[in-house]
Amino acid sequence: DAKQLGPGKYRFFIADMNRRNAEQQRLEQSLRRALENGGIEVHYQPKVRLVDGHIVGLEALVRWTDAERGVVPPGHFIPLAERTGLIVQLGERVLETALRQLARLHHLGHDDLHVAVNLAALQFQQPNLVERIDGLIHASGVPAAALELEITETTMMRDIDHAIAVMTRLRERGSHVTIDDFGTGYSSLEYLKRFPIDGLKIDQSFVRDLASDANDAAIVSAIIAMARTLQLEVVAEGVETAAQWDYLRRHGCQLAQGYYFSKPLPADELELLLQQNAPGNTPVAPDASEA
Ligand code: C2E
Ligand code: MG
Ligand code: MG
Ligand code: MG
Repeated sequence: DAKQLGPGKYRFFIADMNRRNAEQQRLEQSLRRALENGGIEVHYQPKVRLVDGHIVGLEALVRWTDAERGVVPPGHFIPLAERTGLIVQLGERVLETALRQLARLHHLGHDDLHVAVNLAALQFQQPNLVERIDGLIHASGVPAAALELEITETTMMRDIDHAIAVMTRLRERGSHVTIDDFGTGYSSLEYLKRFPIDGLKIDQSFVRDLASDANDAAIVSAIIAMARTLQLEVVAEGVETAAQWDYLRRHGCQLAQGYYFSKPLPADELELLLQQNAPGNTPVAPDASEA
């Protein structure tokens, strides 16, 4: 409470707030410029089948490198982009880039791959979202079924009826819809049943201490069992160790993403990894059986 700080401290508090606002405004300006002049890229993290280490899909993750600041983490600029509305333009850039690069990968022979793109709450509220996605899919030439949209529970809960309507339309086109960061929002079983979804991604906070925390292990296996009962695809996020990989595989989780297999990669590095991972070649799966 500012009053209890005394008049001197209060002044510092205001000065600090002004400084932060000014920095936020500079960051916003820089992000705007990056959208116009370059500096925004998309990296791709493989989504891997746990039984055999085969790459089945990719998650597109935006990357911003600023001339002065260097790499700015999404955690710093996505919230800003959401507050300022820039996320609509940024999100569209990511969608367009991801679909174009996926078309190239399909052309190179990796034609079973899909790409998952994160949708922010504000994008989800755009009245023409589905039409814009239609346009980008059409321009890229990839089938709608090769696109997956990741939506958080929090986004879905903002306006449940609207969310259900948009998700239904996306799925009518053959695109997949998954719940991102599952377990960190409302996670009501009732909603899982009601929402038209194809899968869910177990949040990395539950995966992190899987091997050492019995509660997290129990939560993860319960989510997997429940998802399978509802015939949803399950992806574990943030898999970093052989022990996590092994636990997830033994408990029937189908897919994983995480540094243990691969970090998000720029498109050219991803192409090299995909060549090694092609069917017929020995999968580059880490051997989790020794964990
Ligand atoms: P997310 O969608 O849950 O993405 C997963 C995040 O976990 C990514 O962070 C990824 O790099 C990171 N990650 C993957 N494997 C591991 C691992 O083994 N260990 C750890 N510690 N982390 C791992 P990133 O790229 O920094 O993105 C953070 C969040 O920013 C994303 O979380 C997503 O919510 C948001 N974001 C990123 N790109 C976009 C985008 O294009 N659009 C929107 N709307 N949001 C985005
Ligand atoms: Mg995601
Ligand atoms: Mg996530
Ligand atoms: Mg997240």
